Amino acid sequence: MAGLNSKERMAIPFVHMPLNPGEKRIHNFDEVPIGYTAEQAMQEARRCIQCKKPGCIGGCPVGINIPAFLELIEEGKFAEAAKKIRETNFLPAACGRVCPQDKQCQAVCVVGKKGDAVGIGNLERFAADWERTHGTFTAPVIPAPTGKRVAVIGSGPAGLTAAYELRMRGHEVVVFEAFHRGGGVMVYGIPRFRLPLEIIDEDIKMLENMGVQFVYDMIIGNVLSLDDLLVNEKFDALFIGTGAGLPKMLGIPGENSNGVYSANEYLTRIYLMQASHFPRYTTPIEQGKRVGVIGAGNTAMDTLRTAKRLGSEVTCYYRRTRDEAPARTEEVEHAEQEFLNWKWLHNPVEIIADANNNVKAIKCEKMKLSDPDSSGRRKPVGTGEFVTDEIDTIVFSLGCDVNPIIPATDKEIRINKWGIVMVDKDTNMTTKEKVFAGGDVVTGGSTVILAMGQAKTAALNMHKYLMGEIKWDISKISTDPNASGIVWEGKNK
Ligand code: FAD
Ligand code: SF4
Ligand code: SF4
Repeated sequence: MAGLNSKERMAIPFVHMPLNPGEKRIHNFDEVPIGYTAEQAMQEARRCIQCKKPGCIGGCPVGINIPAFLELIEEGKFAEAAKKIRETNFLPAACGRVCPQDKQCQAVCVVGKKGDAVGIGNLERFAADWERTHGTFTAPVIPAPTGKRVAVIGSGPAGLTAAYELRMRGHEVVVFEAFHRGGGVMVYGIPRFRLPLEIIDEDIKMLENMGVQFVYDMIIGNVLSLDDLLVNEKFDALFIGTGAGLPKMLGIPGENSNGVYSANEYLTRIYLMQASHFPRYTTPIEQGKRVGVIGAGNTAMDTLRTAKRLGSEVTCYYRRTRDEAPARTEEVEHAEQEFLNWKWLHNPVEIIADANNNVKAIKCEKMKLSDPDSSGRRKPVGTGEFVTDEIDTIVFSLGCDVNPIIPATDKEIRINKWGIVMVDKDTNMTTKEKVFAGGDVVTGGSTVILAMGQAKTAALNMHKYLMGEIKWDISKISTDPNASGIVWEGKNK
């Protein structure tokens, strides 16, 4: 097959990912996509035409050499393919599962111009799973110690990536995490039916084996300040990767009723605190018969599908239409297969509670979309028609703002008016000397791979700074409180 020409390759049909059927999977938390077989993976990899100037690499925030690893899969060299991915991506099994590929690497794949793009994410997942299940992973060699100590604050994808990159350059690394286990949103937000826990645990174990130290149950800003770490604990540099975990609400009447949650609280109780196993585990959760979820992003899809698995009748309320839903396309499709109710063009205006302040209904205004404005965007506008649905539990899934504790406790860290930590866009230096930042804390709520890309840039510059190759320079960081945080410009640096 190696001698196939581009036309023949492009004629090969896309290999769909096999899925657990909807009617079965809503009764368990097993992973929904089953994964390619070796034959399916090789067949899908054959669809890549090995472009001379592969746009897909620029579309990946960590710059994986995509055609090279696809060619290795096509040749049946699966362990080598995983190794190739690992040259630039420390979390391939997670990224292959949760990356919004349709907006990143696959969005710019030329094969996708006339049909389905090459299934890069599915193939990345296949190679990473092969490596894990066949034990072909080889531990990286750590260079001689540099004598420098760095602290990483937060153990989400940004913190873990920074820890990996810094350790790989010979620095001593200590990760401080507020929760009792590592992984950030990958553990307490993204559900097990999308990202199994053992994948994250193995990546953390790998870091431990590399000599990275983890300190759990430690809230930096509350228990220890940044200055404590720099002055008393004698760290030479710090990386802030504390994410965006401050939930947004709508500010409508009734939000303080019993039975109203933010998605963060709801999912964290279930996945980190095992609330769905109350009283076996001590954290309870109010799981009504009818659950309403407000929003239509990834978090909303996860909340809807989790509530369904816990046995509720579940409805999504969103003020725009399905076409504008910000969730990954695949996530919406999978959710649609799981017997949920959809109330598109419904804008919640009030939560109605009973005499005991328990939620009993949600009131929405029906919306319509305006004509496109100059940017082509169609705004939802009220129709003046209202509907009320009886409901027992409501979960707000409207995204999150940046965790405020560190900027609130260290005034040298400059933030913009939305609380985003301002950094130099090339080096990820913050306004406090020796302190770098990356991930959702510098972008606002974003994606795993963008958090990793940011952390990598920060770690490479921390290394240069620690080795005296660059000087501290924050002259380019904006003083304008309206300036935006870091924005993905569609191409890696
Ligand atoms: P986080 O993952 O938030 O990690 C931050 C860590 O810092 C946490 O562990 C937190 O406990 C810790 N921390 C916070 N403050 C302190 C402190 N003061 N001291 C010590 N530790 C602290 N992205 C995708 O790409 N694909 C998806 O499908 C997807 N689905 C999502 C579904 C849900 C439900 C949610 C909530 C998010 C989803 N995302 C998805 C977004 C993605 O998870 C985030 O963009 C990503 O995790 C950000 O990584 P991070 O390391 O910057 O922050
Ligand atoms: Fe695509 Fe994400 Fe893999 Fe990069 S890490 S190649 S963006 S799936
Ligand atoms: Fe292969 Fe698509 Fe990348 Fe071209 S753009 S090298 S076809 S994956």
